[in-house]
Amino acid sequence: MFDNKEKLSKLHSELTNSMYRSLLIKADDELAHRGLMGPFVYIFVLIALPFITNIYKDREITYLVFASVLVVINLLRFLFTSLFLKSVPAKKRRKAWRTFYHVSTFVVAIIWGVGSGIVIYWYGLSITSLTFLLITSGITAAAVTSLSPRLMLVGWYVFFMTFPSIIFSFAANNLELTLIGITFVLFLVFMYMQGRAQYMAYWRALVNNELLKKAKKETDEANRAKSASLANMSHEIRTPMNGIIGMTSLLEDTNLVPEQRNYVNTVRVSADALLTIINDILDFSKIESGKMELEKIAFNLRTCIEDSFDLIVSKAIEKKLELIIEIEPNVPPMIVGDVTRLRQILVNLLSNAVKFTQEGEIKLKVELKEQTGKDILLQFSVTDTGIGIPEDRTHRLFKSFSQVDASTTRHYGGTGLGLAISKRLSEMMGGSIWVKSKLHTGTTFYFTIRSQISEEKEEVFHAPLESIKGLKALVVDDNRTNRIVLSKMLKTWGMKPVLAGSAAEAIRILNNSEYFDLAYLDFQIPDMDGLVLSETIRAMQKWEHLPIILLSSLHQSDADFKQKRNFYSAFLTKPVKKNQLLRVTASILGHEIELKNRKSVELDPEMGKNYPLRILLAEDNVINQKVAGRLLEKLGYHPDIVANGLEVLEALKRQPYDVILMDLQMPEMDGIQATIQINKQWPRKNERPTIIALTANAMKEDRDRTIKAGMDDYISKPISVEELVNALKKYQRISN
Ligand code: ATP
Ligand code: MG
Repeated sequence: MFDNKEKLSKLHSELTNSMYRSLLIKADDELAHRGLMGPFVYIFVLIALPFITNIYKDREITYLVFASVLVVINLLRFLFTSLFLKSVPAKKRRKAWRTFYHVSTFVVAIIWGVGSGIVIYWYGLSITSLTFLLITSGITAAAVTSLSPRLMLVGWYVFFMTFPSIIFSFAANNLELTLIGITFVLFLVFMYMQGRAQYMAYWRALVNNELLKKAKKETDEANRAKSASLANMSHEIRTPMNGIIGMTSLLEDTNLVPEQRNYVNTVRVSADALLTIINDILDFSKIESGKMELEKIAFNLRTCIEDSFDLIVSKAIEKKLELIIEIEPNVPPMIVGDVTRLRQILVNLLSNAVKFTQEGEIKLKVELKEQTGKDILLQFSVTDTGIGIPEDRTHRLFKSFSQVDASTTRHYGGTGLGLAISKRLSEMMGGSIWVKSKLHTGTTFYFTIRSQISEEKEEVFHAPLESIKGLKALVVDDNRTNRIVLSKMLKTWGMKPVLAGSAAEAIRILNNSEYFDLAYLDFQIPDMDGLVLSETIRAMQKWEHLPIILLSSLHQSDADFKQKRNFYSAFLTKPVKKNQLLRVTASILGHEIELKNRKSVELDPEMGKNYPLRILLAEDNVINQKVAGRLLEKLGYHPDIVANGLEVLEALKRQPYDVILMDLQMPEMDGIQATIQINKQWPRKNERPTIIALTANAMKEDRDRTIKAGMDDYISKPISVEELVNALKKYQRISN
């Protein structure tokens, strides 16, 4: 008992006064709740008693008075707790409740105690007195349990209810009665201990719960504060970083000797990398502090995936990794959701896969897992053949700033935020993320998202499909997955693929076949390079005119093979994009088709030289920054990137720009506000940079708004190469 007391006082000492008070209210509520059925027990007992004993017969009045007082008090208690207390606010009811409940409990106990004492006195050791004592102890036991949220009540109740009978039984000077008295005392002590134990358990649960809640609230608050200060800090760091990047691009424009150019370039690359990390932190804190909202717009899933690959393809090429995209045929082409955030998860997982894989392949697979009406659950998996993750580390992966071990960090770099962000995003999209990995063999990250099938139709090209249906194609690739994915794709177009895993096998198949309509050759097959193979095939008389499409994951382009151009018909880089493959396939068979798809526009890396412009990109979303930034880089530009209107103004103070690509919605200062400010500072149009709005929604009001604010032009998001190129070509440098 003593031990318990110490424990309890320790528990209590951890509570503040106000917490203790709020817990008392809880305990009282619980008590009222438990005691609610008590009155009915009393009524039942008081009616049953006369039937089994003769108390009532001899002393009607006394019994009736006792009984009615008991019943009245208890009914009052019932009404009071069930009707009155519920309607009074917790704070006010404390006092009234306590007084009433305590007093009534005492009164009931006293009446019952006096009653039982009198019964013993009157009837001596008889059936009547024994029954009465039995019932008294029963009621004591029941009341003790229900009163246990308040230990004091338990004590007093037990005392008042049983004290008179004990006094009487001892005073009677009768051995049997004294024995009953002693038994009763023992019972009383036992009951009290029971009540105490219950009280302890009840309070411990209550206090623990309260402490847990308090702790959770504190960590939540701390987390929010941490996120907010992280956001703040990142912002502070970004401002000078933008300065460094801006100045570097100015420096790049000056006459530099190669060595200097090299240094400047390194500064630029490092600064860009640092900015990416800071943006990640900012993004993460935005999610953590609950400030992130998801868009719901229809988009083409395959395009989103292909765009994600665009961002990692150059690194994968450096490492000679195979990149494979496999989208199950039942996956709907157009879905509704947040394309940017989905791409962010994909890019995170894909860049991890590339980062932690030295050789082999990286495969993205999309499956339809559930469908009810338009609602779908999609599962994505990114599989690599990289270093793998030890099993005991996998559970920590998705926590922020967590990496498998410190040496990994040193070797591969990174902040350890990618997976934490991906986890939050997939959960926000109604899904989850998990990993399966085998050390030194490879890793697969899975994630799911909930989405809806979009009403919008994908652009489908019926004409070429008709013309290529039934064509027999040879597919040569040493990578089995690649072969299968490609053949699946061809089959969905109604073609008949024949697969070969090596050059030797391909030649054997060709030797034994009557006809083929065309061939897809992987550029890197171990036994013979694809170009040599195509040369060999074309040298075979039967296949002299076989159309050949070369698929390469090397960092080569068509231009590198000009002299061998007559050995093949087309050249594509992997991962093969469906629409591109369709277009090329149809076109080499003489069915030119106009693909409206933005991917079909060739990027001219010389554009930056032909139309030299200093471009400032203002866009707050990290992934959009990357996408637009890469697009511009592919066109030969080196845009500076800022994340809001204020940063635009700062950048303009520092150096001149020719074109600002301005997102409309940005934190702190949006694109419209920034434009108004710029126009104020440079009233003459030809002295200030051209402002091109990036509008996500093609709403007319939006465009009117941009023009009204003084913007010069607009292009819609997601940015299409064609639109961007056309817009940029319209403008020139304002000065030197
Ligand atoms: P960041 O993505 O922020 O630049 P990061 O890549 O280190 O940094 P996460 O993407 O969150 O951070 O990954 C956390 C850790 O999980 C990595 O550091 C790495 O140890 C491990 N990991 C993630 N993906 C793989 C993978 N495909 N193969 C092996 N280890 C992985
Ligand atoms: Mg990562």
